[in-house]
Amino acid sequence: MTEIVIIGAGECGVRAAFSLREYGHDGAITLIGAESALPYERPPLSKAMDGTEKPIRPADAYDTAGIDLVLGTDVARIDPEARRVFLGNGVDLPYHMLLLATGARARLFPSLRGCLTLRTDSDAEAIMARLAPNTRIGIVGGGFIGLELAATARATGAKVTVVEAAPRLLARGVPTEIASIVEARHRTAGVEIRTGTGVSSATNRTITLADGETLTFDAVIAGVGSVPNTELAADAGLAVENGIRVDEWFRTSDQRIFAAGDCCSFVWRGTRVRLESWKAAQDQGAFVAAAMLGRTNDGGYRHVPWFWSDQYDQSLQVAGLFDADSPVQQRDAGQDKRIVFQCDAENVLVAAAGIGPGNSVSKDIRILEKLIERGARVDPSVLADPSLNLKRLLRAA
Ligand SMILES: Cc1cc2nc3c(=O)[nH]c(=O)nc-3n(C[C@H](O)[C@H](O)[C@H](O)COP(=O)(O)OP(=O)(O)OC[C@H]3O[C@@H](n4cnc5c(N)ncnc54)[C@H](O)[C@@H]3O)c2cc1C
Repeated sequence: MTEIVIIGAGECGVRAAFSLREYGHDGAITLIGAESALPYERPPLSKAMDGTEKPIRPADAYDTAGIDLVLGTDVARIDPEARRVFLGNGVDLPYHMLLLATGARARLFPSLRGCLTLRTDSDAEAIMARLAPNTRIGIVGGGFIGLELAATARATGAKVTVVEAAPRLLARGVPTEIASIVEARHRTAGVEIRTGTGVSSATNRTITLADGETLTFDAVIAGVGSVPNTELAADAGLAVENGIRVDEWFRTSDQRIFAAGDCCSFVWRGTRVRLESWKAAQDQGAFVAAAMLGRTNDGGYRHVPWFWSDQYDQSLQVAGLFDADSPVQQRDAGQDKRIVFQCDAENVLVAAAGIGPGNSVSKDIRILEKLIERGARVDPSVLADPSLNLKRLLRAA
């Protein structure tokens, strides 16, 4: 019997555990999570905020699949020589192969001490308790988490101010053409947005701007990114480079230890990246399970990065990775939608993004994602033309 231990019972770890069974692994699987709750979906935490948790899998599914789920206990140490993991509760376990799916935690700079952050169900509970009509909510950071929280807070009637140091919102990974629509939607909803405004410090009640002005709130939330949980890996001597460094099969520098999800960095089309994306956590969880069982093809991981965000009635989707220094093209998608894309110097489609009400851009982005996956070469002026049938283009690619 071969024992597989998975550290981290989040999106990626859970997906990997079930995939191992689906791919035929009949040895022991132990899935260890530091959080006490049954593994749950994180995306609804910033969107729904209705206090209900959405489990990733029902409680009985773990038993049925023969997955030993150990919750409320962290792994404190790995001994790669002895091939054992040591839990915080004093128990230690042997492994034949190990997967690190330790995710990430909310970043909090020392200058922002006292601010609320959002990563877990209890963080969401603490934030939810502050949202009420006319409470003043200050948000540091105009990225996805900050903006989804702004939309959710507005829906409760709270007064919201977002302070962003960059000259525009969503500066990381989203083209200006899309971010400006997001910004307009927030302004229409009554959110005060201050871009190009540095924050020198913040507390649980105040944000002090770089120019010395101090804004006062009933609660301050920081959405300033996340930090990968790599300490366990680093202490075990594994290579770390903006996340636990893995190869195209998600193997770390130790051949028996794999890492996947938000905690790892891998090479995608020549660039080492670390993603923070629900679908990537799922794709990588399934892929790494196959890799651990030696069932992957020779090409390594090929999934295109894909991310979505819901704010108000709008849904935004991004497939591929935009190069901030290269131009984007626009495809006329109708009055209430916008689709933009980017090709490289050889006209290979590398990224696409869309925004519109509900899931109105999903179909187009799905097709563009497939074109990116296939490395399709397209004439940008042809792709920009709305009369071009995307399905036909995909069939031809
Ligand atoms: C509020 C919020 C909203 C989001 N919305 C979206 C969205 O709209 N679209 C999208 O694409 N993505 C979204 N994401 C991102 C997405 O949820 C993450 O990319 C995904 O959850 C990553 O999964 P993971 O399993 O790698 O890490 P995690 O979900 O972070 O799970 C890692 C788990 O490992 C545990 N752990 C860490 N160290 C140890 C240890 N030593 N021992 C035991 N356990 C340990 C952690 O406690 C955690 O439970 C959102 C994230 C958040 C926080």
